[in-house]
Amino acid sequence: MSILYSSTRDASVKVKASEAILKGLAADGGLFVPDSLPKFDKTLEEFSKMSYREVAYEVMKLLLDDFTEDELKHCINSAYDSKFDTDKMAPLVKADGAYFLELFHGKTIAFKDMALSILPHLLTTAAKKNNVKNDIVILTATSGDTGKAALAGFADVPGTKIIVFYPKDGVSPIQEKQMVTQKGNNTYVVAIKGNFDDAQTGVKKIFADKELEKRMDAAGFQFSSANSINIGRLVPQIVYYVYAYAQLLANGEIKAGDKINAVVPTGNFGNILAAYYAKNMGLPINKLICASNENKVLFDFFKTGEYDKNRDFILTTSPSMDILISSNLERLIYRIAGNDAAKNANLMKELRETGKYTITEDMKNELKDFYGNYASENEDAATIKKIYEETGYVIDTHTAVAATVYEKYKKETGDETKSVIASTASPYKFTRSVMNAIDKKYDALSDFELVDELEKISKVKVPQAIEEIRTAPVVHDTVCEVNEMSATVQNILSLN
Ligand SMILES: *Cc1c(COP(=O)(O)O)cnc(C)c1O
Repeated sequence: MSILYSSTRDASVKVKASEAILKGLAADGGLFVPDSLPKFDKTLEEFSKMSYREVAYEVMKLLLDDFTEDELKHCINSAYDSKFDTDKMAPLVKADGAYFLELFHGKTIAFKDMALSILPHLLTTAAKKNNVKNDIVILTATSGDTGKAALAGFADVPGTKIIVFYPKDGVSPIQEKQMVTQKGNNTYVVAIKGNFDDAQTGVKKIFADKELEKRMDAAGFQFSSANSINIGRLVPQIVYYVYAYAQLLANGEIKAGDKINAVVPTGNFGNILAAYYAKNMGLPINKLICASNENKVLFDFFKTGEYDKNRDFILTTSPSMDILISSNLERLIYRIAGNDAAKNANLMKELRETGKYTITEDMKNELKDFYGNYASENEDAATIKKIYEETGYVIDTHTAVAATVYEKYKKETGDETKSVIASTASPYKFTRSVMNAIDKKYDALSDFELVDELEKISKVKVPQAIEEIRTAPVVHDTVCEVNEMSATVQNILSLN
């Protein structure tokens, strides 16, 4: 065992992988980061002959090295099975001059399933390893997709409860329906009268409440997080970049060692950070292309070195990317600060107090691996329409942000390196926006009529996840103010 995790805000914190997964967030509010990124110990050719599960094991064993081989394989086999509608788990589709890595073949048809189908197994295994007696209470803020994927992953998992907060008017109708119809005796869904950042900040506050932690412990509970700040989410996301490369190699699209670009529609910066970790572990990635929607804080950051969340929060048709504070960026800041926790902690303090910070020139030089740009709402819709009309392939609004930015990147740089676009949601999850982009006439139809139309034009069968909610009853209807989040949690756990 060699990898320890420290807090991005306190170098003296050192915990094993399983402890970091259990805690979710460090006590000082920092995120857990591995003290070094190990290099892959399998060659690219070896990866190209492996199944998804085999790649998952070879990648995850390096970072979760206090799990035994049996434990880790059990987690992997329990997660990546017939819950996914393809053996490949994450197939690559070539269209419009790029390779779309379809990360939406799991239970809730968004890429969050890739990590959230394994997190409950990692977490319950970690609890056993660490002799935890308390029930684990998963507390999660969602911009739409994490919530449902976490609910589906944790529903009826013994020894756990899950509470999900989502912004009442900040998710798509299908996303909301998916959450409020969630079955399971241990699942709770709460709408808040605020936006995603309010939800995320509220959850972080509850985590930091020491007095509540004591009362929870006395009642036999402890919190953990299913948000992408948990390294149990981040590590499984590295896998599919390796697998994508392996598939390109296996299909003869590239030669071993050729570089590829990774294009990622970005919100909380978890998915693209996983690609960055994959690169640092030895995957030949050229550019990490960070695509934002009109909430383009990250685009501005990559351009100027100033992170500034003081701006209007824009509700877009890619709601899972409507985020002004990209939590996982802190892990990148920590790294480009030379793994300097004190320096990072100061910047995060500035962010809390003033809503912005500026990195040094030296740090900015460390960002050369990244390219940032954004797509406006009109550009996003135009890309969906264009790709559909030219190729017949229908992509969702988030993936279209990435495809738009990829076109801008190619125009600006002339770089023709083969590129993988992370396709983060099924178009069925954002049916109305997708169909409207293709033709405004569809707006007159109901949500489920649109689903049937999409099936006709895309020739892709309606996924099980959508069939399930057609008739499912609403079982969660709690709504609260932002400042009532803690009280709501305490009610649910009967602490007051
Ligand atoms: C969560 C999500 C994103 C953003 O991913 P991050 O890891 O938060 O950057 C993009 N697209 C979809 C569909 C998502 O659900």
